[in-house]
Amino acid sequence: MSRTWNFAAGPAAMPEEVLRQAQAELLEWRDARASVMEISHRSKAFMALAAEIESDLRGLAAIPAHYKVLFLQGGATLQFALLAMNLAAPGQHADYVLSGHWGEKAAREAAPYVEVRIAADARASQYRALPPRADWLLDSGAAYVHYTPNETIHGLEFADIPEVGSVPLVADFSSSILSAPLDVTRFGMIYAGAQKNIGPSGLTLLIIREDLLTRATRPMAGIFRYAEHAAHESMLNTPNTFGWYLAGLTLQWIARCGGLAAMAVRNRRKADTLYAAIDGSGGYYRNPVDASARSRMNIPFFLHDARLDSVFLRESEQAGLLALKGHRALGGMRASLYNAMPQEGVEALVAFMQDFNKRHG
Ligand code: PMP
Repeated sequence: MSRTWNFAAGPAAMPEEVLRQAQAELLEWRDARASVMEISHRSKAFMALAAEIESDLRGLAAIPAHYKVLFLQGGATLQFALLAMNLAAPGQHADYVLSGHWGEKAAREAAPYVEVRIAADARASQYRALPPRADWLLDSGAAYVHYTPNETIHGLEFADIPEVGSVPLVADFSSSILSAPLDVTRFGMIYAGAQKNIGPSGLTLLIIREDLLTRATRPMAGIFRYAEHAAHESMLNTPNTFGWYLAGLTLQWIARCGGLAAMAVRNRRKADTLYAAIDGSGGYYRNPVDASARSRMNIPFFLHDARLDSVFLRESEQAGLLALKGHRALGGMRASLYNAMPQEGVEALVAFMQDFNKRHG
């Protein structure tokens, strides 16, 4: 048995170079004479590392000075609630755009803290298309507008950032962060769990416009307050130091690959390769998402006969193609093609799919 192509949705494949570097440094990191995960987060060495990582991220993602970067815990799911608590005053309402499972969950988890209004909802299309921007019912008095740029389960992605006027736009970028250049200034807040494009699980990235940090008007414990985390440079309590370190190595790897513009080219090519194989299979394989809304990161696909699913999964795994089973809500297959998946892995999947079709046609 050996390491092979991993199409998992998250936790997902990490760049092999990153894992090898972590392996080489595991026992002794820099001149610490200990592992990076064995030293205090308040040590000079770790504080310096945290500053380096933030600076690398700011450079890579062109994050302007009036945005604060936070590295937190609790996953994107904690942010579903915290963002409502921090960005809306009691009695205020917020607009939610639903384009799949995660947008729905974000709205549900915010509901105890803000009056959630569904501004647009693509449920009627069974989340196979995005709600057309012209139909969104946005309110200029809303505390914020929330949407999910990439829906990990349904495989939908917004090609452009929606224009929402002066209301802060809040986006759950968990499954597409750092996959292409992004104009951060269009957002009030961006958040993402790390376990797809940034590193291991247990780390959550927040990029938030400074003026939004102090909006919270309700009494809350410090650990719930963005302003408190910002004031303590994400070290209000003991952070996930090892995850933070691995995220740092991943950012350096992205920079070595040519940065986000190069990532965008690689990711576009990988997705085009797989969609072409699905669409060119004469109906043997099928992706139900409207062409304009197809995700570059998560590609669900279905065999023409669901009775072949278990055979496909067994044989693909034997061929070294891991974790292609679709989410239980949809069934079928799903290939996640995050930054760390090379073109070669996608070519291997396509070759397997074509061979499977021939053998079981
Ligand atoms: N949002 C999106 C878009 C996701 O893909 C996921 C996880 N798959 C989540 C939120 C939930 O993330 P977490 O498990 O980090 O809370």
